[in-house]
Amino acid sequence: MGKIRNIEIFDTTLRDGEQSPGATLTIDEKLKIAHQLAKLNIDTMEAGFPFASNDDFKAVKLIAENVEGPYICGLSRAVKGDIQRAWDAVKHSNKPCIHTFVATSDLHLEYKLKKTRDEVLTMAKNAVKFAKSFTDRVEFSAEDASRSDKEYLAKVIEAVIDEGASVVNIPDTVGYGQAEEYGKLIEYLKENVENIDDAIISVHCHNDLGLAVANSLEAVRKGAGQVEGTINGIGERAGNASLEEVIMNLKTRPEYYECDTNINVKEIYATSKMVAGCTGIQVQRNKAVVGENAFAHEAGIHQHGMLSNPLCYEIMNPESIGKQTEMVFGKHSGKHAIESGLKKLNYTFNEKQLNKITQKIKELADKQKTVLEEDIIAIADYELNKATKKPKIVLEELSVLSGNKLTPTAVVRINEDGKEKISSAYGIGVLDAATNAIRKIFGPDVKFKEYELKAITGGSNALADVSLVLQDKDKKEYKARAIDQDIVMASVKAVINGMNKIKNSKSD
Ligand SMILES: [Zn+2]
Repeated sequence: MGKIRNIEIFDTTLRDGEQSPGATLTIDEKLKIAHQLAKLNIDTMEAGFPFASNDDFKAVKLIAENVEGPYICGLSRAVKGDIQRAWDAVKHSNKPCIHTFVATSDLHLEYKLKKTRDEVLTMAKNAVKFAKSFTDRVEFSAEDASRSDKEYLAKVIEAVIDEGASVVNIPDTVGYGQAEEYGKLIEYLKENVENIDDAIISVHCHNDLGLAVANSLEAVRKGAGQVEGTINGIGERAGNASLEEVIMNLKTRPEYYECDTNINVKEIYATSKMVAGCTGIQVQRNKAVVGENAFAHEAGIHQHGMLSNPLCYEIMNPESIGKQTEMVFGKHSGKHAIESGLKKLNYTFNEKQLNKITQKIKELADKQKTVLEEDIIAIADYELNKATKKPKIVLEELSVLSGNKLTPTAVVRINEDGKEKISSAYGIGVLDAATNAIRKIFGPDVKFKEYELKAITGGSNALADVSLVLQDKDKKEYKARAIDQDIVMASVKAVINGMNKIKNSKSD
């Protein structure tokens, strides 16, 4: 094996990932994820796009002030106002980074920017120069690089490196590239940009054709030194390259890639769970590396092979990414076992929260005999992320009636700021009836945008996990989540949580 190259990992879960439809994160959730990403030991964290909104600016600034380890990066278009704003947010970090971008494909130049190639070249140079006046670490991205004219792209890249860009990113913005072709583009830049060795080549691939990880890895083979992506592969449209997959490919096949990363792989599973919990975008069961079934062997012949020697069918083991397979709790498990289990999963909590979580786990164990890790994670995520503000709307009563000769009917009684309100309604099913009753109380302004029900583990007595998105009359979206052993209760609780979020935001 030759010399092992270190590949930097640039995480954009909080920027590109947060652009996933329905993934909006609160500032507290962003900070929490940022701390976990630092623990995962990524090299650079793109914390947001400070110019885009005040909330984005605040989040990037807060992360820059509080999170140590990685470069804290803010995105900016290649214009002064954006770059200044990005700097004002990231300058609080001791490792600030400004990421500035402009498109280089003729398609974007003609229809989006309405500028000539020369004008864009000047914009790119000026942007990097201006960013460089604030900090040493400046990344330049040539948006839609994979569909740009190669010679022009090389010219832009050479010019920005001359201006001091430390990282040059060659994105496959629309997920159009094919692995070999994309690798060749990286190779072309290595051969045709004279000063290319003065900067790190970065790749940023989208997954529209399912190739984001493959394209990123091929680019690494051809000389890229940084890979950008997100945890669980979330992001615009079909998402970004899934970082855990990129990392585990490099880790599992060192003889093939001759590369490694600084990543603390044992934190992968906990990070994936946290991102899924906060964004509400759950990971599909059969997802590589972090899916629930990623390490499950079902076929008898496989199980036999596994027992003889795990290497028969296992190329990675779950412990390597920090997934505990053995952690099963029963109703006799004590607070201690739960505490150490939660600590292994990197949860931080106080005594009161631990008591509450323990109580919930025991209640569940009473009904479902054993409680699996997935259950614990769901309970802990929920208990630890509950709104700290006292809810203004409290569910006092929910009664539902259903059957094969009965119109599904629900009665809902709530307490809003000390005032009791009661309503009843029917619907297509009990859930529909219950939400109709709630809507009668709150009026038609609130719309349901998304509803997702997930059974955490086990059979018909499984813990139900409901995530939904509500939209207020200003079209602002609110994510809410609740868990309960009863599907209807979990759903109604989630709606009430969402209504509280709307109410809290209105009174701030
Ligand atoms: Zn992107």
